[in-house]
Amino acid sequence: MRYVSTRGKAPILDFDDALLAGLARDGGLYLPEHWPTFTAAEIRAMRGLPYPELAARVMAPFVSGCIGDAEFRALVDDTYAGFSHAAVAPLRQIGPSQWLLELFHGPTLAFKDYALQLVGRLFDHVLTRRGQRVTIVGATSGDTGSAAIEACRGRDSIDIVILHPHGRVSEVQRRQMTTVDADNVRNLAVEGTFDDCQDLVKALFNDHAFRDEMALSAVNSINWARVMAQIAYYFAAATALGAPDVPFAFAVPTGNFGNVFAGYGALRMGLPIRRLVVGSNRNDILTRFFESGSMTAEQVIPTLSPSMDIQVSSNFERLLAEYLGRDGQAVTELMEHFRSTGAMIVTDSVWRAMGDLFEGFRFDDEGTVALMRTIRRMTGDVIDPHSAVGIGAGLEAKLPDGMPMVALATAHPAKFPDAVERATGIRPALPPHLADLFERPERLDVIANDVEQVKAYVRAFAAERRS
Ligand SMILES: *Cc1c(COP(=O)(O)O)cnc(C)c1O
Repeated sequence: MRYVSTRGKAPILDFDDALLAGLARDGGLYLPEHWPTFTAAEIRAMRGLPYPELAARVMAPFVSGCIGDAEFRALVDDTYAGFSHAAVAPLRQIGPSQWLLELFHGPTLAFKDYALQLVGRLFDHVLTRRGQRVTIVGATSGDTGSAAIEACRGRDSIDIVILHPHGRVSEVQRRQMTTVDADNVRNLAVEGTFDDCQDLVKALFNDHAFRDEMALSAVNSINWARVMAQIAYYFAAATALGAPDVPFAFAVPTGNFGNVFAGYGALRMGLPIRRLVVGSNRNDILTRFFESGSMTAEQVIPTLSPSMDIQVSSNFERLLAEYLGRDGQAVTELMEHFRSTGAMIVTDSVWRAMGDLFEGFRFDDEGTVALMRTIRRMTGDVIDPHSAVGIGAGLEAKLPDGMPMVALATAHPAKFPDAVERATGIRPALPPHLADLFERPERLDVIANDVEQVKAYVRAFAAERRS
């Protein structure tokens, strides 16, 4: 499979190079040149497969030509062997035709493990084969950072620097990043918001001299391999509930649009997905877009679901490219307009076409707490605030009677104990492997929201590691 940039001007790459590149050199995001598709019979044959086997089948077309089938299967098996549930991504019924897809059984308790545990292994595999090393730089609103660090810790071919907004991630999230004791890991607490962190990372990548000097690489949700790995659990959930013979709706709590874009990919690959329902918190840029066709960035507001406190959803560019017929020039114009003015408007026909599939709902903190209580009453289950937003969106969407709705549960409740306790009176316990998290020593450096300072920091770290 070959990969093309959403903006159409970067070199076309194979899987290995798209993996290592992250962001394309024209500022765009990589997409597969075409969507591989499965026939109904092939999808039926996925029913009941163990998760790693199903995931390897779904992803195989994306890595073909770069990684052999047996080698890839071994990487995927190894990735999910460390997860704490035998089903890896189990389904739990929460209503007559409503289901929760639990995506929090990885090492850092958020859905990001499902992709990043594989991406860390893929990086190591490709870099070792080539005798190369990279410096991964990433921005996190909380969960990406810990999942990326956990995926890269101790790997000789990788150094990793993660930027998070100082004081704006939960204590559990921060400690999951800062208590990792590995020489190849650095945490930077930036005096700013998540969007500032993301802008800093983009600025480092857009400085091509610096990017080459440091061999920078990204595992942000802009990395294609993350989307690829996420497509697998849509197939797992849908085939377990009767796909391809039953049409589906999925509901997804959304920040950077990476998770829900994977649902779109699953649809393009043959799953009968009729509706993708997007849940946002008060940072509702996507919900406003799906309501109006106009995307305007506003100030980021801290909420109970900090991993969705985002105003610029970077993966949306991939959807834009799809709906604009992969017209790189048109994507570039819209994205540049958005970057310089903070706003973009798509044509009525594009907006309507998106509206046939996507629908957005928003919940403020009060609404989120109410949802957590409702779920507790409906099912007895304690859920985290992000998952609540997704479930809420799925319950509000007007779906055909009886159509299965699968809401993605993106974090374990113990990751957000304060919010969960406020809503339900229950303080969820961390699982055994994290039980002593609050006793472990932390390591982090606070830094100003300043590109030059961040560059100097990364340069010094790389020099230290390579000496
Ligand atoms: C990252 C994250 C999200 C948002 O996912 P995107 O792919 O950025 O849309 C939602 N919930 C949790 C718990 C997360 O960590």
